[in-house]
Amino acid sequence: MKIGVLAIQGAVSEHINMLKRAGAEALAVKTVESINSVDGLILPGGESTTIGRLIRLYKIDAVIKERAAKGMPIYGTCAGMILLSKHINGFGQPTLELIDTAITRNAFGRQVDSMEVDLTIKDFDTPFHATFIRAPVAKDPGKDVEILSELSEGAVFVKQGNILASSFHPELGNDLRIHKYFLDMVKSFLDKQ
Ligand code: GLN
Repeated sequence: MKIGVLAIQGAVSEHINMLKRAGAEALAVKTVESINSVDGLILPGGESTTIGRLIRLYKIDAVIKERAAKGMPIYGTCAGMILLSKHINGFGQPTLELIDTAITRNAFGRQVDSMEVDLTIKDFDTPFHATFIRAPVAKDPGKDVEILSELSEGAVFVKQGNILASSFHPELGNDLRIHKYFLDMVKSFLDKQ
C-alpha cells in the first residue's frame, strides 16, 4: 500500500513516520502525478486557509476530488478535516466538499490552544489519547456521515464512505490505531480494484 501525505504545509513527516510504523509505504506528495500514484491520501493539520489556497493555485484540488470520486480513501486531520468539509461556519473559503458537514474552526476557544483528551471511539476497545491543537469540530453532519467520536462541542472523528476526518492529531502520539484504521480502508479499496 502506497500512501501519500499532502506536503503543502503542516505536520507531514509525523504522518509519514506513523504510516511506515503501521507497515505502509508512505511519501510526501504535492503534484498531480504523485497524487495519482498513491492508493490513499492524508491531508495533514496546518493552516487550512493556506493549504486551501495553495491546492487551488496548484490545481491539485481537482485531482483530489477526482480520486475521491473513484473511491480512493482520504483522511484529513485538523486543517485537513476543515478542507474536506462542505462548509466552514463564518468563513467563505472554498473546500473540497467531500464530507457532508459544516465545520467550526478553533471550536475549543482561543484560550485553549491545545489539549489532550482520552477519547471514546466507536469500535475501539480502549480510549484513544488524542491531542487537539486549535481544533475544529463537525457541526450537524448529514445523514451519510458516521460519527466515530464526539465531544460536547461537536463531532471530532467522522467518516463518510471513503473519506475519514479527525479534529485531533493521531500522528503526535505512539498509538497506531487510527492510522491502521485508515490503512484498513485503503486495503478494502484495493481489494475491490
Ligand atoms: N486552526 C487551524 C485552522 O483553522 C487548524 C489547526 C491544526 O491543523 N492543528 O486551519
